[in-house]
Amino acid sequence: MSLEPRADRGVPELTARVVRASFPKGTLAVRVREALGPLFEDESFAEAFSGRGRPAVSPGALALVSVLQYAEGLTDRQAADQVRARMDWKFLLGLELDDAGFDFSVLCDFRARLIEHGLEEKVLDLVLERISGIGLLRAGGRQRTDSTHVLAAVRTLNRMEFVGETLRSALEALSAAAPQWLSALVTADWVRRYGARIDSYRFPKGENVRQEWAEQVGRDGFSSPYDPDARYGVKRGSGWCGYKTHLSETCEPDVPHLITHVVTTDATVADTEVTETVHQGLAARELLPAEHDVDAGYVTAAHIVTARNEYGIELVGPVGLDTCHENHEGEHFTQSAFTVDWQTRKVTCPEGKISASWSDQRKSSGTPIARVHFTAQDCGSCPVREKCTKAANGTWGRSLTLLPRDQQEALEARRREQLTDEWQQRYNIRAGVESTISQAVRRTRIRRTRFTDLPKTHLGHVFAATAINIIRLDAWLTQTPLGQTRTSHLARLGLAA
Ligand code: SF4
Repeated sequence: MSLEPRADRGVPELTARVVRASFPKGTLAVRVREALGPLFEDESFAEAFSGRGRPAVSPGALALVSVLQYAEGLTDRQAADQVRARMDWKFLLGLELDDAGFDFSVLCDFRARLIEHGLEEKVLDLVLERISGIGLLRAGGRQRTDSTHVLAAVRTLNRMEFVGETLRSALEALSAAAPQWLSALVTADWVRRYGARIDSYRFPKGENVRQEWAEQVGRDGFSSPYDPDARYGVKRGSGWCGYKTHLSETCEPDVPHLITHVVTTDATVADTEVTETVHQGLAARELLPAEHDVDAGYVTAAHIVTARNEYGIELVGPVGLDTCHENHEGEHFTQSAFTVDWQTRKVTCPEGKISASWSDQRKSSGTPIARVHFTAQDCGSCPVREKCTKAANGTWGRSLTLLPRDQQEALEARRREQLTDEWQQRYNIRAGVESTISQAVRRTRIRRTRFTDLPKTHLGHVFAATAINIIRLDAWLTQTPLGQTRTSHLARLGLAA
């Protein structure tokens, strides 16, 4: 498919006149066009098209429609219909009123081209650049990040359904692609087992018969499930099948809060594995913040040090407290009660005893650590032993696990400061990202993906983030106040002291 880049010639005169007469106060589409001009040039997507073949529908227009689709929660077919039916969309797209638009199937092809050519981030990049150009977005300042779960577009299966349906899916694909080859391999039994959808209520009754059925399916084969990228994840006790998306946004008081980066992973990837990915993405956009506020899931001592040394970011979020030697009264000597001499590799305990050994080791994850031991002799006769170690008296002394010096010092400094009111007040700004997650879920419906693989799910999240940015820019232009946190009827009674 070839691209003949279409230069934007402004909004056609008749379209502009009719839209302004019909919408004197404008609409989101009208205001965005007037504030930002034509958002996406065809040239920006040129590498996704060849020089030969049928002329493609304007990719700039398709990018814009894909974003509006998420802003209004529309299917491909509904979005294509809106291009024909909506005057304000024609205004934003710069089309004549009698423009017939395009067939809805073009949107699916457009998404596939973006993914194939690595242009998933393009629409968010272009909108952020445009907003930077009008002075509403800049590097530095504060940003915040949080994640939410995303349900796969496939139904959730129990273990037996999963195994049976996986095999049925493979057989369906083979029946369509190589019917003769498959016919020679399978028997009528297979058709009885896999001819209809595998469902719990159709399973044979009785534990032994079910076990036999499961073993038979196991013998019959193995293949990919409907969505090979979706995984089962658990967060705060709730499980789901699908993905996780991480949204980062600016949170400066004087400008609109804009989403600056989106990361989509399968559901099993922990937040801590994404922290550096977010910083790399923000660096690539030249939108690194000076301060990044995140919840505890994104913070380790290594992240604090790396963010500071490699990106110039102060990573603000709580770290875990040192509780491993806590006794039942809660009194204990944490690591901060010990004095570490990093030069001589010696540690002095609260009773003034010097450590007997220091050995460099690595965790199974590869993280370098130092294991420090005090002698059983010193600790066995110690009057405050109960506050210090649970090691059986006379067999072992207290031991410590230390991170590399810069990480250990960062960890202890954060443990001290996060207990102060000043730090808590500063950290309160992080909570605002929850409303962005809420807006993304309610307005752009990211909670359930429309697609059955990770690349397309991520592309959908990028469209959704771009849509939210446009919605927020419009709210800022129209001076629409931010929504207030809802208070329950019970809380409004004011009975709490
Ligand atoms: S138990 Fe050992 S390490 Fe702990 S304070 Fe006593 S002597 Fe020091």
